[in-house]
Amino acid sequence: MAATVLKQKIESLPASPGVYLFKDQEGTVLYIGKAGNLRQRVGSYFQRLKEKDAKTLALLEKVMDVETIVTDTEKEALILEDHLIKEHHPRYNIKLRDDKRYPCLRLSIEEDFPTLTIVRRIKRDCSLYFGPYPSATSLKETLKLIRRLFPIRTCQEAKFSHRTRPCIHYEMDRCLGPCCGKIDRTQYGEVIQQVKLFLEGRNRDLLERLERQMAEAADQLHFEKAARIRDQIEHIRKVIEKQVVVSRDMMDRDVIGLYRQDGRVALYSLFIRAGKLLGGKGFNLSSVSLPAEEILSSFIKQYYREDRFIPEEILIPKPIPEKDLMEGWLTELKGKKVQLLFPQKGGKRRLLRMASENAEKFLHREIHLENEKGDFLSDLKENLHLRRVPKRIEAFDISNLQGGQAVGSMVTFEDGKPRKDRYRHFRIRTIEGADDYGMMFEVLLRRYRRAIDEKDLPDLVLLDGGKGQLNVAKEVFKELGIKEVDLLSLAKERRAGNLRHQGERVDEKIFHPQYKEPILLGKHSSVLLFLDQIRDEAHRFALTYHKKIRKKEALRSVLNQIPGIGTIRQRELLRYFGSVERIKEATLEELQNVPRMNRNLAETVYHYFHPS
Ligand code: SF4
Repeated sequence: MAATVLKQKIESLPASPGVYLFKDQEGTVLYIGKAGNLRQRVGSYFQRLKEKDAKTLALLEKVMDVETIVTDTEKEALILEDHLIKEHHPRYNIKLRDDKRYPCLRLSIEEDFPTLTIVRRIKRDCSLYFGPYPSATSLKETLKLIRRLFPIRTCQEAKFSHRTRPCIHYEMDRCLGPCCGKIDRTQYGEVIQQVKLFLEGRNRDLLERLERQMAEAADQLHFEKAARIRDQIEHIRKVIEKQVVVSRDMMDRDVIGLYRQDGRVALYSLFIRAGKLLGGKGFNLSSVSLPAEEILSSFIKQYYREDRFIPEEILIPKPIPEKDLMEGWLTELKGKKVQLLFPQKGGKRRLLRMASENAEKFLHREIHLENEKGDFLSDLKENLHLRRVPKRIEAFDISNLQGGQAVGSMVTFEDGKPRKDRYRHFRIRTIEGADDYGMMFEVLLRRYRRAIDEKDLPDLVLLDGGKGQLNVAKEVFKELGIKEVDLLSLAKERRAGNLRHQGERVDEKIFHPQYKEPILLGKHSSVLLFLDQIRDEAHRFALTYHKKIRKKEALRSVLNQIPGIGTIRQRELLRYFGSVERIKEATLEELQNVPRMNRNLAETVYHYFHPS
């Protein structure tokens, strides 16, 4: 689209809220944004160009067309923008590479006898969630501590409802045995209340409550009980002493620090729960030259949309123009008021400084690691005679069970690190029997046909196997006209050692399309160890998926034997109970409660597993 036509198009845009998509000559979406007034916002990009940063100018140079979608409100635009970014992955939008979900604790207060479990996804249900904890280890420690301090049940629902006598936890005084009526709902509820107070950081209330109970027990001459509560109080006091209290108001807060250096940006979020610092997490946004407020807005939108814990307050280092809109959106997600604050002084300002200092340290650490990795990847290029520095490597593996249920897997390493969001599985569609080459051909063809369409080619493709696998890849690349991507295959060769005591020797051979002989590196070479790590990861990924499919099919095959239980009901039963074991243990009433089941079918399933 010529510049004048684009200008006219922008001038005729509606002055309404909506989403705009900047596209290049081929129609690829480069950037997606939202606006309260589309004409004004899109127009502002093309005014005062001298004041624009390098990245925006690079974007504008490529923009040949703009598409807009009008919405009724700005909030609708915010939601639509989010959907479209997830769909198109535009190059110029900020990408938060954080596929990891941090573990939280879930207290299932909706149950008669609640329990505490570790979860990574926060559901919008009636349970209470605490966290996130920056590492699974710290969370496991907390859970262990809680279970030591408070005798709550640890078993899952299916086990709980089928117990005829309490388990070992009861014998060890670690559980009060609600499964067998050793404690009633009210008494158990009291323990859960204590756990809640502890997790909410309301330690003073908790200690007062326990001291009251201790005095009551002593008054009633229950000295053993009173002594147990006294020990519990002592333990809790010791735990409290070790906690890092950063604010006295006991609020849940995330504090976001930002640090920029040479066009790079890092964010660091401190997690403060009930006034105590649980830890933090850094985010490296690489080269972003957008204004801080835009970076913060994008971060908040991407970070909190992913079923994560939303605290009551989020402290930010710069005011953002869409504050009210974002607060409304976050409040709706949480179901409770959420505030975005930009404190200028006092304790909250100090917290922000702490978060920014952490962002600075985090970025320096990342740069240091990248430099080391950069040198390493250049060495890799030299040692393996590649045309490009292998910044992005895609590795493939095929896993099959005597030719049946074959699966291909692809793992991606970027800048030397695994990018799990780019891992892919492929169910083999066209090949039957144990034809490894044919399967590899199918997987590579599917992957790179798509990669060409999406302009998403890696620097290096690594295959598990020898010359045969390499030739398959060469054929695929020839068919698709791919010339710029390097290819390697890595084969493990087992040989008997020369001397008896040497046993079996394993040699690793690297095959390169341009060399007849394999490249041999010393078995301690860091380059070889790195390639090994990638190959093993591809193998692990293929096997995990394979196991999952086999398990699913094995489960199905048991259920297949039951008359009247087709694929849909099998799925519902497995979804409801989670395993065939639990279906076997289910009562008639429980089976009847499963969607798409009725009394007759429930009886069929029940009698199948309990023949009289
Ligand atoms: S005693 Fe009963 S309720 Fe407690 S953990 Fe064991 S099975 Fe579960």
